[in-house]
Amino acid sequence: MGTIEEMTREEAVNLYEWAYGSKECVFLDTSSVPHFSMEGKIITLARVFLSIKLGRELLSGRCACHRCDTPRCINPDHLFEGTYKENTADAREKGRLNWKPKPRPRKLNSEQIQEIKRLYFKEGLRQVQIAKRFNVGQPLICNILKK
Ligand SMILES: [Zn+2]
Repeated sequence: MGTIEEMTREEAVNLYEWAYGSKECVFLDTSSVPHFSMEGKIITLARVFLSIKLGRELLSGRCACHRCDTPRCINPDHLFEGTYKENTADAREKGRLNWKPKPRPRKLNSEQIQEIKRLYFKEGLRQVQIAKRFNVGQPLICNILKK
């Protein structure tokens, strides 16, 4: 843990202006979430920046949440005031949106392709059942059946 530096509000505002307007995440040259001591309180820079952006102190029980899910980021554009609960809910929501099934690249030989067609058209198996049997994704089965 590095030393916590004292920072004045004026210095924070200067830094804020420097960080503002970037589209990308902005980081300070620190290995952890930037913390500062301001007016005798230990505070994260994200919180300071958010209070500058809002023009007021954060409400009690609220935290500076990151739209970008990057706690070290200090880009004011990426910060919003939320409850701790919202913070985790928001992260989960985004996690879900970002979730994509991993592609399972797997080649099937012509014998297997014939078998897939047979199972589907003759046996009446569902695509998901066939996909499971061949350990491939259902979209691949779908593609094979279109051919
Ligand atoms: Zn960011």
